[in-house]
Amino acid sequence: MSLFLTLFYNYAFYSNVLKVYPPTQDNILFLFSTAIILVSLTAFVIAVFASKWTTKPMLIIILLVSSMTAYFMNSYHVVIDHDMIRNMIQTDIQESVDLFSFKQVLYFIFLGLIPAYVVYKIPIAYRSFKKEFMSKIKYLFVLAMVMVLTVLSFYKFYSSFAREHKPLRYSTNPTYWIYSVGSYINTTFTSGPIKIKALGRDAKVLKEKYESPKIVILVVGEATRADHFSLNGYHRETTPQLKQEDIVNFSNVYSCGTSTAISVPCMFSYYGKSDYSYKKGLYTENVLDVLNHTNEISILWKDNNSDSKGVALRVPFMYYKNNFYNKVCIEGECRDEGMLGDLDTYITEQKGKDILIVLHQMGNHGPAYYKRYPKAFEKFTPVCKTNQLEACTQEEIRNAYDNAILYTDDFLAKTITLLKKYNTTHKTAMIYISDHGESLGENGIYLHGLPYFMAPKAQVHIPAFMWANETFRDSLSLDKIDTTKKYTHDNLFHTLLGLFSVQTEVYNPTLDIFNTTKD
Ligand SMILES: [Zn+2]
Repeated sequence: MSLFLTLFYNYAFYSNVLKVYPPTQDNILFLFSTAIILVSLTAFVIAVFASKWTTKPMLIIILLVSSMTAYFMNSYHVVIDHDMIRNMIQTDIQESVDLFSFKQVLYFIFLGLIPAYVVYKIPIAYRSFKKEFMSKIKYLFVLAMVMVLTVLSFYKFYSSFAREHKPLRYSTNPTYWIYSVGSYINTTFTSGPIKIKALGRDAKVLKEKYESPKIVILVVGEATRADHFSLNGYHRETTPQLKQEDIVNFSNVYSCGTSTAISVPCMFSYYGKSDYSYKKGLYTENVLDVLNHTNEISILWKDNNSDSKGVALRVPFMYYKNNFYNKVCIEGECRDEGMLGDLDTYITEQKGKDILIVLHQMGNHGPAYYKRYPKAFEKFTPVCKTNQLEACTQEEIRNAYDNAILYTDDFLAKTITLLKKYNTTHKTAMIYISDHGESLGENGIYLHGLPYFMAPKAQVHIPAFMWANETFRDSLSLDKIDTTKKYTHDNLFHTLLGLFSVQTEVYNPTLDIFNTTKD
């Protein structure tokens, strides 16, 4: 099994290793030794858990899962780390259908089902428990010795492998995904009851009596990259309607993570990127809770993406991915603009209270970009009409991706039009910020989710901009803001508190983008 897995499931690993260590005379023995390590390591892991009751089910699961990890690693150059496992678990059925392809079926049959069937059928003779135990100890010892001796014989190579080329090990299969499952469990679950840590219970709105109420619509974008917005100088006109509006564009903004599951909770979290973790984010109240503690702000989360990733658990939440609330479900997809549907009613019902509405978009969710916009927005052609991105040219992928941005441009323009109706009664603003970027095939990398330190700029440099009506603009003194300064998701927490003039001990004015009094 170990030899089989090493030979047929590690194409990604070997193609990455060969890039760093080309098969020269100096490297050839070392390259061969990596296979010995991989076979021994896989055998070691399997042997630890093997027993009369576990061997077959374990091997069958490993084969089925590894056939899929091999497919995703080979096709999209993704890394199956604990964050990717989280993404997979939090992905809903509809998104999985989007990813589904014929090639994936072939992987599943030839690397999953058929070998799993062979394992199922093959007879294994077990000896007594004592004999099995003793031989297992010997076996593990021999494997450990083989690994130690191999590493020592190529010490120079393995020390550089461990220090400088750490990412190479991320594409080993199945060892790395098995490690990642353990790491996922470790970073996700706690023993004992969950207790949410309170935050900013002292929050209150500082407001003049005559000040008009505020409506802020925060649009959380999906998988859009800054360099594909004409607001940031992209050579194509991808935001023709926003161009007509008075937009304040922030050109130098970076995401907290490279996936929805990390970035969305992180951007609403009190913790910055440097001290954020999934558990801390989930078990501590976020900026929506702090705003809620004022009892003076109505908060509503509308979701057309998947869910709020735990952010909106304690505020009103509406799901727009089916036609229950969403009245714009056409061509097989519920559109983002459906979230605007009943907003007027909602705003009227709040009777002059301050309002924060979060719209979590489907946006540019890949790989089926061509499904993310109505036909009328297919301006850039030809487009990639399959989820097998590697089967399309980069031009076709970019066309489909840019058309989806055109549709977001339309959605945002409609949002601004809606806000303009409240010009005389409210201070209104729309903020757009993406959760992370996207790779479109540069260097063979697609989609997103690479570990942050090795992610290309395309996955972390995100579009962010705002529109505000005149009364809001004046009070924010927007012209004083340096829009080219580097900002990150860390700024959102404090900027939202600032926008609603909330006073609390957890507010840090230096991170509030609109606070111009700080220096
Ligand atoms: Zn996302």
